[in-house]
Amino acid sequence: MPDRNFLHWPFFEDRHRALAERLETWATQHCARPDHRDVDAACRELVVKLGSDGWLKHSAPGDDPSEKIDVRTLALIRETLARHSGLADFAFAMQGLGAGPISLFGTAVQKAQWLPKTRSGTAIAAFALSEPASGSDVANIATTAHHEGDGYILDGEKTWISNGGIADLYVVFARTGEAPGARGLSVFIVRGDNPGLHIAERIEVIAPHPLARLTFENCRVGAADLIGAPGEGFKIAMATLDVFRTSVGAAAVGFARRALAETVKRAATRELFGAPLSELQMVQGHIADMALEIDAAALLVYRAAWTKDMGAARVTREAAMAKLYATEAAQRVIDTAVQIHGGDGVRAGHPVEMLYREIRALRIYEGASDVQKIIIARSVLSSGAAA
Ligand SMILES: Cc1cc2nc3c(=O)[nH]c(=O)nc-3n(C[C@H](O)[C@H](O)[C@H](O)COP(=O)(O)OP(=O)(O)OC[C@H]3O[C@@H](n4cnc5c(N)ncnc54)[C@H](O)[C@@H]3O)c2cc1C
Repeated sequence: MPDRNFLHWPFFEDRHRALAERLETWATQHCARPDHRDVDAACRELVVKLGSDGWLKHSAPGDDPSEKIDVRTLALIRETLARHSGLADFAFAMQGLGAGPISLFGTAVQKAQWLPKTRSGTAIAAFALSEPASGSDVANIATTAHHEGDGYILDGEKTWISNGGIADLYVVFARTGEAPGARGLSVFIVRGDNPGLHIAERIEVIAPHPLARLTFENCRVGAADLIGAPGEGFKIAMATLDVFRTSVGAAAVGFARRALAETVKRAATRELFGAPLSELQMVQGHIADMALEIDAAALLVYRAAWTKDMGAARVTREAAMAKLYATEAAQRVIDTAVQIHGGDGVRAGHPVEMLYREIRALRIYEGASDVQKIIIARSVLSSGAAA
């Protein structure tokens, strides 16, 4: 059983502790081993289960204006699911990220139309920002949306879109041209079966999950499918990522905790030189480093979540620190876990081998580690934090 003492940190309330207990029981029953041979089917099944059992309602607030997102709950759910199954965490996270712009900036009609579905698991959501020439360089988006009649026509290409191919709704960022660069982007809801939207390529990655390149050719959406005002696309993307970046850090903490738990079990049972591995001081040193990095990462993650929940308008710097540190630390922790497992650590299908593949993309998506460093440095430099 991984260390759960952190639940008593002052960031949490009794409702968080109760939720974590319930989810632990649920995840033990439902996330044992998703079938990675058919990730589409496994992901659909997980979304339905997460929805029908009430977990997805925490992924994005509903259409009741008094409801707001609780980032600590979001983070706790991601951490717990990630500890049990990378695909379960992915299924939960994408419902939140895909529905995030609607939940944060949508009209009452958009919220009423889509959020009950994403929250109940009856519609799968996707967040379509990246393009072949604009991954880190978001302001360089080339997909266009021309105003025509009572709607918009989208043309262009998106890539690396999670849930691409199985999503019922795509939140798509496109250039409407109110101003150059970042100030000329808008965001639209595009239905999965919208004419003009094509799944051009399914992409396979080292930790399998549904992923695709999309093309838009003369793809018409209604004016009512515009989220926010024209030109607000970049602001909406960044505000959504402000919330969800912290939760990427939380997923990394979940992966790292699982790696430590597997390592402690292994070190206690593997006999070497006439004694358990855990009696070798060098191994103890590694285990201490792993525990230290996990606590430091969790502190940054829940600091960012708590700060947002306490009413901060933006937590760009806190979220960047949480994502950067937690994902990089988890990579180190998992690498150490693989090492301590010896040959078994690289055996296909072993939990630490799966974690080794799962963690890698988290250091790239929703802003690569180098991009997070730039965000943090800019924030420090502009705060005038000189001696
Ligand atoms: C598994 C997976 C799932 C994804 N899911 C989605 C999704 O659902 N929706 C979506 O829109 N996108 C998604 N993405 C895309 C992801 O957000 C991009 O891959 C990411 O933003 C990096 O963009 P890029 O791949 O074009 O790399 P590039 O932008 O080419 O960057 C490559 C590298 O260059 C370096 N770099 C970049 N900028 C700087 C800088 N300013 N300073 C210093 N170094 C820098 C970093 O090391 C970076 O990793 C996903 C990606 C992956 C791998």
